[in-house]
Amino acid sequence: MNAGVVARRPLIAGNWKMHKTIAEARTLARELCALALPPQIDVVVAPPFTALAAVADELKGSRIALAAQTMHDFAHGPYTGEVSAPMLVEIGVRYVIIGHSERRAFCGESDDAVNRKVRSALANGIVPIVAVGETASEHELGETHAKVTLQTRAAFADVATDDIARCVVAYEPIWAIGTGLVDSPENASAVIAQIRACVDGLAHARILYGGSMKGDNASALMAMPQIDGGLIGGASLTAPAFAAVIDGARAKASAT
Ligand code: PEP
Repeated sequence: MNAGVVARRPLIAGNWKMHKTIAEARTLARELCALALPPQIDVVVAPPFTALAAVADELKGSRIALAAQTMHDFAHGPYTGEVSAPMLVEIGVRYVIIGHSERRAFCGESDDAVNRKVRSALANGIVPIVAVGETASEHELGETHAKVTLQTRAAFADVATDDIARCVVAYEPIWAIGTGLVDSPENASAVIAQIRACVDGLAHARILYGGSMKGDNASALMAMPQIDGGLIGGASLTAPAFAAVIDGARAKASAT
């Protein structure tokens, strides 16, 4: 493994989606900064664009890293409403979620666009958190493997193996997002093993599980050797709920 590649340190990332005004985001960031975070766990929060600068300000001097929820693949240009990687770097963003199922479904984000964004993020020194996952009907039809393989291979097309190892993937079964239906640790782990095997470099990358992960199921998911952390939606919106998920990763952290 190349020296620049991050080992598979546990990572818990909170996706605040379209929640939190600037004032609310500042309050939550301050509460998170007050938590006693285990040093072996990387913690990331992804506020909405409007709150990124304020949260960057609150996180100064803390171990919590800042993420954006999406970005455009071009550096600048006539793309109304979009934000680019250099703009995110300027305010201290270190990670970006790319290809979240909500963006794929509601904003038409294609596999090609995901790939362009991954390459742009890497070129600008931002770590992509690439989300992949199957719908409920694909799950029922037994198409999970085919779907995540397709999405993963497309996301990392023409990306160097060393760069791929620096990326993060989030396996997020769409039927589990925001529904309270959590995948079984065994199944999530088996799908993640398939994701690791389908692209060179992913054996060394951090792969998270996402989908209704909470304090009461985090430790069972995190106990699986293939699962390096979580991408958390609902349970990242309050400090106690997010702290409970981070607590679930403690056993894994002490084992790494
Ligand atoms: C998500 O949207 O990425 C997610 C995992 O949401 P939730 O934790 O609410 O299911």
